[in-house]
Amino acid sequence: MERRCSPASFQELEVIMTKKKAREIYKSLLQRYPQATCQLKHTSPFELLIATILSAQATDVSVNKASPELFKTFPTPKAFADTTPEEIEPFISSIGLFRSKAKSVFEASKRIEEVYGGKVPDTMNELVTLRGVARKTANVVLGNAMGKNEGVVVDTHVSRLSLRFGLSQETKPIKIEQDLMSLFPQENWTTLSHLLIRHGRDVCKKRGGTCKTDPICKRYCSNAKS
Ligand code: SF4
Repeated sequence: MERRCSPASFQELEVIMTKKKAREIYKSLLQRYPQATCQLKHTSPFELLIATILSAQATDVSVNKASPELFKTFPTPKAFADTTPEEIEPFISSIGLFRSKAKSVFEASKRIEEVYGGKVPDTMNELVTLRGVARKTANVVLGNAMGKNEGVVVDTHVSRLSLRFGLSQETKPIKIEQDLMSLFPQENWTTLSHLLIRHGRDVCKKRGGTCKTDPICKRYCSNAKS
């Protein structure tokens, strides 16, 4: 007698298939980019926090150019808190949106100094109370400077590739992050974002992606198959 799958078992089957595909994608990307890591130069959680605030809608390269002099002049949260946003501005004027970022850096440092005793807090709930810090920045700091896989960093590359690799159909970063968290083991969350960002930067450029020739793309991306 023919056995029919119920709608629930079809859904379960789909989840199993997507998880299998997610595992394969992760393995392929890791083989391709074994050194994929955070591109923002930093020597402490505080420096990474500031660098990540500065990197919003700007390139990591531009932040890495400005940050050494900035951190030399203001080496601690107290040093930033004791100055003014106007005094921070000249050090970051080559980075987009530098005026509002100077305010964020100043306010975030002040709060770290006054509320958290000069130490960057190590929980999502506390980090997002700092000016200029939302879930994405908090995930960068927790994952890369504190060894905590609290979530997946969802930037423009991660959003784009999640859709193209069929890992999420969502458009909002928070929803994409939830989908990725359900598909990949927690210990891989930080590395996963590095891998997707690296593939996005190296291969899946906005224009001229190697859709028909790259082996990973050919296998997993909907664009390569169209
Ligand atoms: S196939 Fe094209 S669109 Fe898809 S990931 Fe590769 S380069 Fe990007």
